[in-house]
Amino acid sequence: MLALRRIEKSYPLAGGSLPVLKGIDLDIGQGEMVAIMGSSGSGKSTLLNVLGLLDGFDGGDYDLDGVDMAGLSEKQAARYRSQFLGFVFQSFNLIAFKTALENAALPLFYQKVSRRERQKRAMEMLGKMGMDDRADHLPSELSGGQKQRVAIARALITSPRVILADEPTGALDSTTSSEVMEVLREVNESGITVIIVTHEADIAAKCDRVIRLRDGVIIEDGLSSEVFEPTANGAGPV
Ligand code: ADP
Ligand code: MG
Repeated sequence: MLALRRIEKSYPLAGGSLPVLKGIDLDIGQGEMVAIMGSSGSGKSTLLNVLGLLDGFDGGDYDLDGVDMAGLSEKQAARYRSQFLGFVFQSFNLIAFKTALENAALPLFYQKVSRRERQKRAMEMLGKMGMDDRADHLPSELSGGQKQRVAIARALITSPRVILADEPTGALDSTTSSEVMEVLREVNESGITVIIVTHEADIAAKCDRVIRLRDGVIIEDGLSSEVFEPTANGAGPV
């Protein structure tokens, strides 16, 4: 459902430009759970932002659900984002003065859903995240893992086909990270495509497929069981 061909992107730099994506070819099908791995600066967030229509690209083709995404207006991009895509970020991006329920409900406000319906659906979604008993809490009253559950509820509330998560466990301890990965696995099992950017091998190993970026180029793309194949001496993911 997502197809990238020869995608290139540069950022302007004093006296020239910095190439960040250098010809990305990538197909991701409906229902996949994919990790995009790579060291800091390799272009992971840039690639995710292109996939999520948060940022444009300079060259190549991007086909989302059969539609050419080149040259979309900001308004069209916003419509595709709200129709197809949900976002989860390392820093949660919750609104500090709104409750968990209000944060989870927010995308429905922009879709002009009635207040009553927004609250009902947000409460259901918080329930699925095991967070209904925290609906009235402000983000400052929640742990990191709880904040990320609220953020995932917010991402899911518009029934997206794809969840794009940029280092969703980057601010969490390892136990909480595992719990958040279990939540994202359940999301995936409901049929939603999940794409997770991470630089941590143990997070990537929990996805079905691993794409490795280096300097804006895909250097590896395979099943995580193959990418993280135990070596002869029994070492785990590297
Ligand atoms: P990653 O997420 O893998 O750490 P990024 O995609 O954020 O990498 O960044 C890739 C490269 O692009 C880095 O060299 C970074 O400094 C540069 N970069 C990212 N965003 C911008 C921007 N908005 N303007 C200029 N350069 C950027
Ligand atoms: Mg990044």
